[in-house]
Amino acid sequence: MSERKTVIPNSRVQARFAGITTFGRYPRIEDVDAPVDWAVVGAPFDGGVTFRPGTRFGPRAIREQSQYLKHYSMDHKVDVPGVLSLADAGDAPIKPYSVKETLDGVAEHLCTIGDPSATKLMLLGGDHSLVYAGMKAAWIRQGKPKGGLACVHFDSHMDTLDTVWGEKWNHATPFRRLIEEGILDPKRMVSIGIKGPLNSEDDLDYAREQGIELVTHGRWQAEGFAPIRAVLDRIGSDGVYLSYDIDCVDPVYAPGTGTPCVGGFTSAEALDLLRQLKGINLVGADVVEVLPDRDVAGNTALLAAHVAFEIMALDAATR
Ligand code: MN
Ligand code: MN
Repeated sequence: MSERKTVIPNSRVQARFAGITTFGRYPRIEDVDAPVDWAVVGAPFDGGVTFRPGTRFGPRAIREQSQYLKHYSMDHKVDVPGVLSLADAGDAPIKPYSVKETLDGVAEHLCTIGDPSATKLMLLGGDHSLVYAGMKAAWIRQGKPKGGLACVHFDSHMDTLDTVWGEKWNHATPFRRLIEEGILDPKRMVSIGIKGPLNSEDDLDYAREQGIELVTHGRWQAEGFAPIRAVLDRIGSDGVYLSYDIDCVDPVYAPGTGTPCVGGFTSAEALDLLRQLKGINLVGADVVEVLPDRDVAGNTALLAAHVAFEIMALDAATR
């Protein structure tokens, strides 16, 4: 155990409910000398929501629910903090009254964390507008690869609208902005768990025209993991950004979210889907849309903590 890359207090010595609350009880990044493999960063911002606000409290809730995270993945047979150096980098600065200033500021801040060539970032939202900042920072940290990044996207919604209420910057539009700026390659993007009803028949037209692979919830039920596997095989070793909107999970399991959509994944299905991504070449990730005030027993934040862990476990399993 002393060989672990991440120093985590022994829970048999220091109780899990004691001490300052960092994600997974990982050390604060200031307390780690060498560049870490993954830094967890909060972005307590919900100025981009189209329905119920409150995800600004998401990062704190996820950190709190992460205290009981254990570290050894039985599925991948890997001690995640044993293989990876992990740290909590605190929260990014936000401007609660401005979406665009927040996204630019968060992206800028993310670019300063750790060593861009070695450190990957796990962004905890906050609403899904933040994927613009998370993915832009990942793209810059990768040296702005021409053609943009590949993306695996879990969500009930496509988030590729042009505007809402006349505003271009919100949680229903980030992937369109990323495509427009050449940061995201839609032909190397798969969106998993999309389900209706839609606002109108043409809601998904933009995504389809851009070449995004849609694995709707119904298609997943019919075809399983195969269409996702096909995209992963096609993008091969490309750098992939993983964006996880917790509302892809059924509100029975994840009620704490602002735009809930019935008929989604169970918690077990959600975790199993993530584990099947083993081999993916991650360059960064986010877990967004946790809304603690609607989260009756903290189970949405608990699931979000596990989702973040499983994403980092994917990286640990491929090293
Ligand atoms: Mn979303
Ligand atoms: Mn959503």
